[in-house]
Amino acid sequence: MPSERILITREGETFYVRDLGKDYHTKHGFVKKEILGMAKPGTKITTNTGKEFFVLEPGFTDLYRRIKRAPQIMLAKDLAVIISETGINNKSMVVDAGSGSGASACFLGNIAKEVATYEIRKEFAKVAEENVKFLGLGNVMIKVKDIYKGIDEKETGLIVLDLPEPWKVLRHAEKSLKAGGFIVAYLPQITQVLKFVQALKKSKKIMYAKTSETIQREWVFEDKIARPSNIKIGHTGFLVFGRKISS
Ligand code: SAH
Repeated sequence: MPSERILITREGETFYVRDLGKDYHTKHGFVKKEILGMAKPGTKITTNTGKEFFVLEPGFTDLYRRIKRAPQIMLAKDLAVIISETGINNKSMVVDAGSGSGASACFLGNIAKEVATYEIRKEFAKVAEENVKFLGLGNVMIKVKDIYKGIDEKETGLIVLDLPEPWKVLRHAEKSLKAGGFIVAYLPQITQVLKFVQALKKSKKIMYAKTSETIQREWVFEDKIARPSNIKIGHTGFLVFGRKISS
């Protein structure tokens, strides 16, 4: 049984309890360790000030929201599109670079059979390693290596690139991808998109498939309020997809 819980209020405020052996303090008062230790997932507990919390076992997304962030991470809205467009599953071998905080590697690791993630900076590889451990993923392998110099993995189904010059990976991707496999570059600048699309169009083995941008808008429902949220995520990045068609 996992030794961690989340406490969630009716309003959706969420607290993560890593150690059930200690009293847990929140701004709504505290919960005694004796109560925390006994509370089954799906039950309700009350703090000393009378605030009610529902007890749940944390799922992947609860933990994912709490990972450490070193460089900027890829957001779930963009990763979700990569997963849906490429159809990766528990049989897929995936390559990811750069690891950064390991967010994309972990998100893909939750779906794929195995993920090899490349990072040139040791200090970031360490953060990624901590996040992989925190999420309990045994299938994400971190490599302190420059992906511009080569990809070790063969017969890969997907290569995700979140780094400044993805066109430098193209000739390695041509060898690493299996026929039908995808390469996806996540790029903040349209100038980078143009350069990568041109490189894909020149490749004899990988075809250019499509470019998209994902805009996600949340809505607020409170009393008489029922409208789009005025807090919005601005631009993150474009996704450029290529597919290996010829071995
Ligand atoms: N996808 C990550 C964030 C990556 S940030 C996440 O979701 O958490 C970009 C990372 O690419 C940086 O950490 C940078 O050090 C790394 N990087 C840049 N060039 C690289 C290269 N040639 N090989 C491997 N990693 C590289």
